[in-house]
Amino acid sequence: MRYIDHHAHMVSRTTDDYHQMALTGCVAVTEPAFWPGWDRLSAAGFEDYFRHITDFEPKRAAKYGIQHYCWLCLNPKEGEDRELAREVLARIPRYLECPTVLGLGEIGVNRVTRNEVETFHDHVALALEHNQLILIHTPHLEDKWKGTRVIIEALLQRSELKPGRVLIDHAEEHTIEMILENGFWTGLTLYPQTKVSLSRAADMIEMYGSERICVASACDWGASLPLAVPEFVLEMRRRGHSEALIDKVVYQNTVEFLGQSPNFRLQG
Ligand SMILES: [Zn+2]
Repeated sequence: MRYIDHHAHMVSRTTDDYHQMALTGCVAVTEPAFWPGWDRLSAAGFEDYFRHITDFEPKRAAKYGIQHYCWLCLNPKEGEDRELAREVLARIPRYLECPTVLGLGEIGVNRVTRNEVETFHDHVALALEHNQLILIHTPHLEDKWKGTRVIIEALLQRSELKPGRVLIDHAEEHTIEMILENGFWTGLTLYPQTKVSLSRAADMIEMYGSERICVASACDWGASLPLAVPEFVLEMRRRGHSEALIDKVVYQNTVEFLGQSPNFRLQG
């Protein structure tokens, strides 16, 4: 088994988690910038966070033979504060120079407010200006369908944007079709309690096939499993799926999407 977890908030995880991920075949993780569970008060707080995920975390992962990449942004929740957004966005271009940064993410919307949507547009503009890949967070629970719709409509307004350079994450049964049919990549992120379970993710692969779909753990500071991807592999094997299909959705697809960034250089 080999896999890449494209959605792992490793700043919230222990070195034991890296160890277990390495033992189960994880070769690389990508860490989207996100909400730490509490609101930061200043752009300087983000600056330290960006240093954390571009410098410290790759070194910590390397001790376990795992490559660590990241995505930068001001997250959808804090994007409500337009002044803070302006200050944080101004600081991002400097960090795009770091060798392990893959693009802008996870940008998106949370409660789908006007301010959040404006901040989302600013991030997309920044990504296009710097020719960066985009990783998108879609809201959970009752805002999922509406938020995904708003995001897709905003992206389709930009004729210069190539859908194949965007991954719209946290897809569910009622949003996966609209994501895929518009040419975007999508992510199925696995959770132990709420949101997408192992079996729902396997069901979606069975229903929608394996093209442009990547499976990840979305492990963070909340209830989540850093080993969700190997658990998903076991679920797929239990159902009798081929190793080739499993490898495609936990490794090869992810390599294909991330490989569009010149900074993604898989070793071995
Ligand atoms: Zn996340």
